[in-house]
Amino acid sequence: MSAQKLINLDYAAGKPVDPRVKEVMLPYLEKSFGNPSSLHHLGQEAKTAISQARKQVAELINAEKPENIIFTSGATESNNLAIKGLVNRYKDQGTKILTSKVEHMSIVNPIKYLTTKGFESILIPVDKYGVLDLKALDKEVDEKTVLVTITYANSELGTIEPIKEISRIVHEKNKILHVDATAAAGQVPIDVQDLGIDALTISSNDMYGPKGVGALYVREGLRIEPLLHGGGQEKGLRSGTENIPGIVGFGKAAEISKQEMQTNIIKLTKLRDRLIEGLVNSLPYTYLNGHPTNRLPDNVSVRYSFVEGESILLSLDVDGVLVSSGSACASKTLEPSHVLLATGLKHEEAHGSIMFTLSRESCTEDIEYVIGLMPNIINRLRDMSPLTPKELKK
Ligand code: PMP
Repeated sequence: MSAQKLINLDYAAGKPVDPRVKEVMLPYLEKSFGNPSSLHHLGQEAKTAISQARKQVAELINAEKPENIIFTSGATESNNLAIKGLVNRYKDQGTKILTSKVEHMSIVNPIKYLTTKGFESILIPVDKYGVLDLKALDKEVDEKTVLVTITYANSELGTIEPIKEISRIVHEKNKILHVDATAAAGQVPIDVQDLGIDALTISSNDMYGPKGVGALYVREGLRIEPLLHGGGQEKGLRSGTENIPGIVGFGKAAEISKQEMQTNIIKLTKLRDRLIEGLVNSLPYTYLNGHPTNRLPDNVSVRYSFVEGESILLSLDVDGVLVSSGSACASKTLEPSHVLLATGLKHEEAHGSIMFTLSRESCTEDIEYVIGLMPNIINRLRDMSPLTPKELKK
């Protein structure tokens, strides 16, 4: 590799654990390895640690009580638990599940599965920025609806959805709203009570906690059926011995994210906007994906006409810069992402997309370096591409 240094701009795929988080986890990997179900003091130490983490996570999203938080193995499990657990519990109220056309596969696939079990799914369209069509939602929420599930912020486009309006539409008709806040929680303020969210998915690693742990918030009074049956942990909603070090780390990560949120929003928004401006203005036929302002502070998604996102990604990798050509989970297939297509892009337009995601560690120097690299990479790829118009070639 010819690169002198590594610049990671693919933090949506994975974040480092904050050293302060690691520090509080260590005792639970070493001396304090008790099982919270044990009555002796080692077990009770673990039980106290989970209670503390539950409180920290509840405070991040302003849950009514810590007990409204159910710890899981991550966002995929939380989304499955929310969707399957709620529709199975409330199936007497209807069989129609409403979601958007820009959801993560951990929403898309559980719903697809449920359509083989007698449920019906309706995909609400979005506009060119990925913002949900509220009129279409309003039209579709009816007496047959059992659940509405919408992402808080799209991890590929960066676009933040109008959750308060969505919640108003859903609750006017007394229906249930689940929100996948994996990409947003810890980054932007989320108040489940103020927004009127019935169930919310959050993930630890997305806020610099350890991987393999997440949570589902379930509003007071809402019932849900478990996916896992066993020893009855987590109020019977998620059986299995608790991942104590992970949960403790998640709690600390949530606390830090809440404390430092405003500082990080200011820092990241400045870097994000400089990167967008630098990329879009330095080359023709370069466009921003997602909403120009109402977007996650860490997300920059752009598309370059006439080239492939994967070729850009690999060229940047050679220069020591890590990016993603779409959702890391979808990039196993070379099909353009369904999210980009839902915003109205043609296949060939969507193919030229790359996504940069920043972190608390990102700095101006790295952003300027990447802005400076892009013209050479894109011009070289465009020179080789049969799609590039003659006047753009050397
Ligand atoms: N929802 C969204 C919006 C995501 O971006 C992701 C991936 N980070 C997930 C759910 C699933 O997360 P995980 O693979 O950690 O379970």
